[in-house]
Amino acid sequence: MSRLRPPAAPRRAGVERKSARELDLMRQAGQINAEALAEMAAAVRPGLTTQALDTLAEKVIVGRGAQPAFKGYPGPYPYPFTVTVSVNDELVHGLPGKRELREGDVVSLDCGTRYQGFYADAALTVGVGTLSPLAARLIEITEQSLYVGIRLARPGQRTGDVAAAMQQYVEDHGFCMVRDYTSHGIGRQMHEDPEICYYVRPGTGTPLRPGMTLALEPMVLVGTADTRVRPDQWTVVSANGSLTAHFEHTVAVTEGEPEILTQRRAKNKP
Ligand code: MG
Ligand code: MG
Repeated sequence: MSRLRPPAAPRRAGVERKSARELDLMRQAGQINAEALAEMAAAVRPGLTTQALDTLAEKVIVGRGAQPAFKGYPGPYPYPFTVTVSVNDELVHGLPGKRELREGDVVSLDCGTRYQGFYADAALTVGVGTLSPLAARLIEITEQSLYVGIRLARPGQRTGDVAAAMQQYVEDHGFCMVRDYTSHGIGRQMHEDPEICYYVRPGTGTPLRPGMTLALEPMVLVGTADTRVRPDQWTVVSANGSLTAHFEHTVAVTEGEPEILTQRRAKNKP
């Protein structure tokens, strides 16, 4: 889930650095979340309802002794579901329901898990069957822009460096980065400081330190960065009706390489 960009400058105070024990709990939350996303992605096919994807994710999360982090999340009204499923022009926060997926749809799945008091948040976009060349390219560039950001999530960089590099990558490939929603810190809350806004200059923002945990999430649109919210008050769509894509990982800044906490690992042998 992403955060509505605040009207004021982002606060820089209050960025928490996690201990080794806290990181381990976030790692466990991340693995459960990764499993839920992988099961959903594998289930995507024409005729499946978006509600069925939500049910699948909830089963995985609850079955592993964790809680769906999105359910009840404060907003215009408490978020009613475990995941958001955003199809085609729906950028983020799409409400699962009776809609059936169709061949060629671009489906963004966003899922959050709370485990022993710690949060993981991740998203991915998949196609249903064969995609148009534009849709396939949009998904590829959006995913790659996430890794551009992750590679910079290390000491010596600031949040503005990460956001600006992700946005630049997206624009260099002819697409638009969202302006109205942000990446964010994560840990004891799903949304913590620092706020990581796009459309900022490199060299600005919070300096990254080992132990910081960030949910990096490029939200990418075709032709315009403008969005609007549907009358259901949650679903964010592209203002021009064009396709959108969304990827997200929860990442820990370390002394060395960034650690992706929501990257699915091989299952341990029993
Ligand atoms: Mg998310
Ligand atoms: Mg998020």
